[in-house]
Amino acid sequence: MSTVEERLAAMPALGTEISEESWAFHDEQFVRLADAKVSIATHALNYGTGVFEGIRAYWDAEREQLSVFRLRDHFVRMERDCRILRTPLPMGPDALAALTIELLRRNAYRQDVYVRPLAYKAARSIKVALDGLRPAFSMFAFPLGAYLPTNGLSAAVVSWRRTSDNAIPARGKLTGAYINTALAVDEAHDKNADEAIFLTEAGHVSEGGSSNIFIVRDGVLATPPVSADILEGITRASVMRLAAEKLGLQTVEREIDRTELYLADEVFFCGTGAQVAPCVSIDRRPIGDGHIGPITKRIGDLYFAIARGEDPSYPEWRTAVYA
Ligand code: PMP
Repeated sequence: MSTVEERLAAMPALGTEISEESWAFHDEQFVRLADAKVSIATHALNYGTGVFEGIRAYWDAEREQLSVFRLRDHFVRMERDCRILRTPLPMGPDALAALTIELLRRNAYRQDVYVRPLAYKAARSIKVALDGLRPAFSMFAFPLGAYLPTNGLSAAVVSWRRTSDNAIPARGKLTGAYINTALAVDEAHDKNADEAIFLTEAGHVSEGGSSNIFIVRDGVLATPPVSADILEGITRASVMRLAAEKLGLQTVEREIDRTELYLADEVFFCGTGAQVAPCVSIDRRPIGDGHIGPITKRIGDLYFAIARGEDPSYPEWRTAVYA
């Protein structure tokens, strides 16, 4: 088995810095990333008071089209998450979706890309509070292949617990909350695992470091409920629909114990970055027979074909970038 470093090196897009030449949206205009600057006194830089999104667009070489996956849904979630931090967005989901298309066109991408919108407290202030702090909105994009290996990854249950909803809500994509993920993934890498698995403070399975988790036991698909301190993933919702409508499999949302992971026939992670990432070992125990399971394989194949537009179903999930 290769080391985490070797596996990460095989995913070059992650190790490279994002091009300073790329177009970004910052302070209400399109600028080169090199010119999208913030002050070191920025509230969000000091206290993590930002809300972000992660959106993928897939390139279909045959039809020469870039399709953004569930574009509007990401901005609807962002608008809701912004209520937690009491920070307004400059425009509604439809206008933000249009802005994203404009950003992608300007960058003229002809490959898979990732888009990162960011709403944050831009005030130059050290006041630790939420009210009365000037908000701002920025967005950038960059080419991205896999974020996690999709050919069978290893995971580790980490000692860091998922932040509870009453401490730092995991339900919202809050920038500061990702310290929790960084600590967890760092520990997973120390254990030579690709992805971390969080338990809740109550000791049940929550989610991956930057992904939601599903297990298959005796043909039943299960995932932790939204009350298990998870991010309510858009890919999670997509997987649940695909499983129900394409495979006739209803997902059971229930508490999952740690040892159920070891007993499961199949485990996979999903998320915008993670896509559908099968897990073949947890805490050095092989999952099932140690290979990608049949249900995971079918869900993964469906996800990629639909997101890329090779499978025409769910057209409402894809927004074409080019005319
Ligand atoms: N959980 C966490 C902690 C995440 O960061 C992500 C990635 N956004 C997910 C789950 C998956 O969410 P989504 O499918 O909406 O990208």
